[in-house]
Amino acid sequence: MTISSNGLGAVSERVTIPARAPVDLHLHTLASDGAWTPSALIDHLANRGFRVAAVCDHDTQRSVGQAIELGKMRGVHVIPGVEVTCSWNDRQLHILCYGVRPDRTDADAAGFLALMRQIDLQLQDNAADAARRIEADGKPLPNLETVQAGRPLWPFHVLSAAIEMKHVPNLTKAAELVVALGGTFTADLPLGDVVAATHRAGGVCSIAHPGRADAVGIVSEADIDRIVAETGMDGLEAHYRSYSDQQTALYRRLAEERGMFVSVGSDSHAPHRPVNPRPWHAVWARDLLNRLGVDLLPLPDGEPDWIFGMDPEVAVPAPEPPPSPDPEPMETEADVAAKLGDA
Ligand SMILES: [Zn+2]
Ligand SMILES: [Zn+2]
Repeated sequence: MTISSNGLGAVSERVTIPARAPVDLHLHTLASDGAWTPSALIDHLANRGFRVAAVCDHDTQRSVGQAIELGKMRGVHVIPGVEVTCSWNDRQLHILCYGVRPDRTDADAAGFLALMRQIDLQLQDNAADAARRIEADGKPLPNLETVQAGRPLWPFHVLSAAIEMKHVPNLTKAAELVVALGGTFTADLPLGDVVAATHRAGGVCSIAHPGRADAVGIVSEADIDRIVAETGMDGLEAHYRSYSDQQTALYRRLAEERGMFVSVGSDSHAPHRPVNPRPWHAVWARDLLNRLGVDLLPLPDGEPDWIFGMDPEVAVPAPEPPPSPDPEPMETEADVAAKLGDA
């Protein structure tokens, strides 16, 4: 392990790991709509040999500091991240922003951290307003504080409390109720502002799950070109839990042709929800890891980074599954927000 300046306005440690060491660069905790505590998540990762992980909650970095400290004790290098809900071209996009610690106090990070405060406060306003509207509609939420569990009140807690009180059966219906009552349960920031502020802070951005048709929807090749031209977007999440090898090959190619890096992520929110963290090979995200202070040992001469069939957990393309009678267990608040549009 060596010490060097990483260009982020601070001296930080570089780490070196094997090229095929397991890494997962898209993980959620209970700071947003997940259920992993930082300690359960780091224990899970350490026990399975993960070497690098990025905590990327929706619109908050509240778990990042704790995860970094716990990771140091368990040998998991935790990269500060956040999955920011962005507005672009009349739609929402999920953007993974990497490399900016929430405890930064330097001027370069001020803009980014101000944006994080702005969306957090907007979500808290929306949540308080949504709770008032639901209760005024004759649906009491006496469980709100219990659901909130000491966290700032976010729309997700209000929706969850309404479900627990059996006012509504699932997240979709809960969100629809809020919208029907004139409220809103989501918030976003302009994409260009988020990328510019991340860059100023020395961080980098990647488009989350561009090939996922549910949630915020597909980001097409033409969209990617526009986004790169308009914002200087850095990367694409080319390895994702729901992708087939064909999709991974597509996004790896699109990234390479545009000089973008590749990011890898399971998008795990809780144990088995919808999946556990996945052991992606570090080398699949080599350029991004290098940018974030992680160096990789070389592969044997001639061994390809990635080829079809190399990932035993890859999704196999299948015909459209029949609609599930109860989609709730797989549902996250961000999925619902995307389905219902920016209400
Ligand atoms: Zn997402
Ligand atoms: Zn996510």
